[in-house]
Amino acid sequence: MYDPFTYRAGVTPDETALIDADREERWSVADLDAAIERVAGRLSALGVRPGDRLGVCLPTRPAAVRVIHAAIRLGAVLVPLGPTLAPPELATRLDRADVTTIVCDASTEADAVAAVDAASDGDAAVPVTSVDDPTTDRAVALDAQMPEAVVPHDWPLDATVLVPFTSGTTGAPKGVRLTLRNLLASAVASVFRLGFDRRETWHVTLPLHHVGGFTPVFRMPLYGMTVVLRESFDADAVAADLERYDVTATSLVPTQLGRILDVTDGSLAPSLRTVLLGGAPATEALLDRCAERSVPVFPTYGMTEAASQIATATPEEARTNPGTVGRPLFWTDLTVRDGDGDERPPGETGELVVSGPTVSPGYLDADRTAEAFGDDGLRTGDVGYRDEGGLFWVVGRTDDLIVTGGENVAPAEVAAALRDHPDVADTAVVGLPDEEWGERVAALVVPREDARSASALESALDDHCRERLAGYKVPRTVGFADEIPRTDSGTVDRTAVRERLA
Ligand code: ATP
Ligand code: MG
Repeated sequence: MYDPFTYRAGVTPDETALIDADREERWSVADLDAAIERVAGRLSALGVRPGDRLGVCLPTRPAAVRVIHAAIRLGAVLVPLGPTLAPPELATRLDRADVTTIVCDASTEADAVAAVDAASDGDAAVPVTSVDDPTTDRAVALDAQMPEAVVPHDWPLDATVLVPFTSGTTGAPKGVRLTLRNLLASAVASVFRLGFDRRETWHVTLPLHHVGGFTPVFRMPLYGMTVVLRESFDADAVAADLERYDVTATSLVPTQLGRILDVTDGSLAPSLRTVLLGGAPATEALLDRCAERSVPVFPTYGMTEAASQIATATPEEARTNPGTVGRPLFWTDLTVRDGDGDERPPGETGELVVSGPTVSPGYLDADRTAEAFGDDGLRTGDVGYRDEGGLFWVVGRTDDLIVTGGENVAPAEVAAALRDHPDVADTAVVGLPDEEWGERVAALVVPREDARSASALESALDDHCRERLAGYKVPRTVGFADEIPRTDSGTVDRTAVRERLA
């Protein structure tokens, strides 16, 4: 039996599979399985066939879970699309991924239709189907289709199941081919590190088009766990969900965890065993708060191309070595290499290179694949090192290195020094073009609420940095803002930071 949900329905039909925290509704495994069967039959009636690319542009709501598992049952390749993307962004992805049908809801229909028009370029437009009542005459209602009988697809291990796009932090987002082998290896190696309870309840508030949100939904029928969905992140609501639904695990980006800690006291819900924290570096201040409040945090380094986790630290490692991302998962090989591809010794920084069964066979685009994938594995574009004890540390991205007067400056090092100052709540450091130096170090700073005035803080930060950093690393430009612009996966949006500072 190769269909995950068919398998699960035979094993624990009466357990709770899904909870919609926004509407306080629940589905048993058997009910959800029947709903998935109907959605698969309706997609088939619309002409979706095994191997077709199905664009899914839905928020984190139960309909998305049904469509994801219906596509897997049918044999259609999932192309998850961010529900907040603008029509031109959607259109590029539809073209690049050769999407043949797109599923939307009332909130995404107008943008999906506009994107299809822009993408189709005069050819026959990609059909759009809505899980809600259509709001335009360009979409058909999925529920209006007479379900056809569907034979669960028998996926070969090396078939592409999922084509997520990267976050686009360093340039145009790349469509990543993830195979069944990638997703299964990740599901197995993940529990080898996190441990597993027979009654796991995973809270999902990350968007489903990112591997961090997608993987718990994919793994739900394999692990036999309950998934709780919360459509948009709200710290108070998520904190309440953790208690109300006896949540045992959740995946969050650092800014989200910080906000949850701001609105709660103590150690969060007593049921909580795992807070997988990734997508962006966790600050030492955040890790200190987790340690003080016994929050079971597993700092993680991961990426779309590796189907999520690459290395994960345990809560003990996070406490004794704040900032580490721990050790690679089982089967995953993580090395530190120089520009020639030679391995660097412990303690020395270089580019992180990853290989193993969770790593994608490549991007949609063959040229991008040839640039990044080699005999040693995938060059991640991230800079890091392994310490003498075997723990890994990520210090930034190769593209982010600031070259000022011929000296290399890692933005993370400068940001860490700034964060040490009591008046700094958050910061991002970038290079700005400079006539004399090529680039100059610049920092966008979010002051704490009770911080001194901007001009006083600017000179205080200059003194503070000079005590801690070599002169060429001290920011020459400091700007203040209420918030650091970030992508929805939590990474700093450097282009936006540069624009603010410029
Ligand atoms: P793009 O590849 O399009 O530029 P992206 O790399 O941000 O976008 P994702 O695959 O969503 O797209 O993010 C993976 C990246 O996030 C990693 O390569 C790394 O740079 C960063 N990252 C993830 N976890 C951590 C972490 N714990 N510490 C530091 N950086 C992290
Ligand atoms: Mg990337």
